[in-house]
Parts: sequence; structure tokens; C-alpha cells
Amino acid sequence: MSTQSIGEKFSAPVPQALGAREFMIERLILRDNTRELLRENGREEEMEIELLALTECGCGMDVYDPTKCKCRAREGYFLLAQFYYDTEQYDKAWKWYLKIRNADLRALYQLGTMCFEGVAPKEYTPEDAYDMMVEISTKGKDPHCFVVPYAEFHIGKAYFQGYGVGHSEEKAERWWLLAASGDGHEPVVEAQTALAFFYSRKSAFVYNLSKAWHWHNQAARRGSLESLGAVGAMNLFGVGTSKNLNQAVECLRQASERGNIYAMGLLVYAYYTRKLFTKATDLAKRVSVLDNIDELSRISCCLPQYIRKGIAISTFILGRCLELGYGIKKDPSQSVLMYKKCFQYDPDACQLLQDYLTHEKI
Ligand SMILES: [Zn+2]
Repeated sequence: MSTQSIGEKFSAPVPQALGAREFMIERLILRDNTRELLRENGREEEMEIELLALTECGCGMDVYDPTKCKCRAREGYFLLAQFYYDTEQYDKAWKWYLKIRNADLRALYQLGTMCFEGVAPKEYTPEDAYDMMVEISTKGKDPHCFVVPYAEFHIGKAYFQGYGVGHSEEKAERWWLLAASGDGHEPVVEAQTALAFFYSRKSAFVYNLSKAWHWHNQAARRGSLESLGAVGAMNLFGVGTSKNLNQAVECLRQASERGNIYAMGLLVYAYYTRKLFTKATDLAKRVSVLDNIDELSRISCCLPQYIRKGIAISTFILGRCLELGYGIKKDPSQSVLMYKKCFQYDPDACQLLQDYLTHEKI
């Protein structure tokens, strides 16, 4: 097995991940600092009363019409709805967002996201979510309306997953390109990362590693931790770009420092292949004791299956070093335990490394 093929397997994939609903909803929902305020002060009731007072309109209407309101009440409605959303009182949040859905695209966006997320009242469906996002994209030509490219991203995702609308890769690509380029707004980093993974699928007709390389770089520059790790991986194996070990180690190191476990696994691998065994085993030991995948995923916003791969690669290399006494004292029984742990975390990565080892004698 060549480095090229192991490289493609380690740097390119993710497609199934895009189908996972947990992918990024948490990151794309609008949040204010309600939760932090509550953690600091703990005065939930008082806060609710203050926010309710903010919703009182001074514009002298008989029946409140948010499209005609010129005072701060409309913002009060939004803040109160946010408060209910953040404290997981979804029925109330829904009710207050709904009152201003025609006057505030942020409220409409939150309603759509709640439908996608499955916390809307049960008569609402993913189809409604799709319709709301489309409504935002047609209404929001105002460059200050920052939710527009986010709505475009969600529409792309709906097409990709066939969630709320029929599956279409062409339409997913088209909407993601809009969101990733910003379409007159700030580009959405998540759309850039999604596009990079979209082009990385070998089985797909859109397979194009130079496009994947382009979008991962864009997203990494804008702070995407996943894309930063991917750029490191592509540099490491020479996938979609020419091989550049120094660049690879630099990207993987930065991504590792920011908590990307997959990047840590690849960094262990990079150290090992450069015969920096002490560095490899030091880092591998730290990664091999990690086990709370869901919590790690929440903190780092990285996909769980990639965290598993990172741990798998680290334990495999650690097992190899323990077997051969590279950079660490030889310990055959510990070594076997590490191989087992690797298999347990990610059988595919384990198989891949095993084959690679047999053929290339690493
Ligand atoms: Zn008013």
C-alpha cells in the first residue's frame, strides 16, 4: 500500500458525517449570553421579568404589529425569545419568535433551525424548515442581514441530506457555494468546510481534490479547526497538493493545540514516520487515555468519528513503539492492549495501519 492511498483514506473522507444531524446545528444557532448570565447570577425569574418589560411597545398601537413598531419593543421580543430558547423552554421560544417572524429575519431563522433541530411544535416538519430558509434567502438581500448565508448553508444541507426536500447533490453544491462565498455577506466557514468534504468523496462525480484543498484552506484561514486538521493531513500525505512535511507538522501542531484529536493522531503518525519516537510516544500517551468522545466533540466542535480515528491512530503507533521499544521501554503486553484499543476505537483505521505496516514495514 502506498503513502498516497493511505493518505487519501486519512485525509479525504467524512461524507457520511455530513449526513449526521449533529453536524453543526449547535454551532449555527444564534445564541446570546443568556446562559452565562444565568450561570453568574442565577436569577432566571428576574431576568424573565426584565425581558418581558422590554417587550412593552410605546408606539401607541391597539394591536401590536411588529412591522410598524419603531421602539425597542421588537428587539425585546427577540431577546425574550432567545432567553426561552437558551433556557430550553422551546414552546415559549417558538411563540415569541413567531410573533416577529415577518419583521425580523433572525427570528425566522431561529424558527427554521428549531424545525431542523426537532425542537419545534410537532405539527412543524423539516419541509417547513426548508421553506423558511428559502424565504430568508429571497428576502434578505440587505448586506447587514447576516443570517442570509447561514440560511443558504442550511438549504444546501437540506438538499445534501434529502431532509425537508428531495436529495440533490447539484443543488447542495450550488447553495453551499453561495454560502461559502458569502453572496454579498460574510462567508460561512461551515459551508467552506462542508464543500471541501463534499469534493473529497472518491465515489462522487464531483470528486476533486484541488477544490477540496482550496476550500479547506479558506476555512482554515477563517478559523475552522476541522479544516486546519484537514490541511495538515493533505500536506502530510501529499493529497490534493504536493507533500510538505514541515507545513503538515505546523498545521497539525496548531490544530492539536486547539483540541483537534484527529490532528493529534496524525501528528503522532508524522512524528513516528520521521523517527521522532520520543515526541510520538509522548503525545500518543496523552491521546490514548482519552475516552469521553461526546464531551470532546462538544468542546472541540469536531466530529465524533474523527475523534475516534485520532485516538485509534495514536494507540496504534503507541502499540508499535511499545512492541519495538522505540522512544519508550519495550512492553509486549501493553503493546497488545494498545492494538486492541485501536481496533475498538476504529477498526478501519486499525486495518489500514496494519496493512500499511505489513507492506511498507514502518
Ligand atoms: Zn413599538
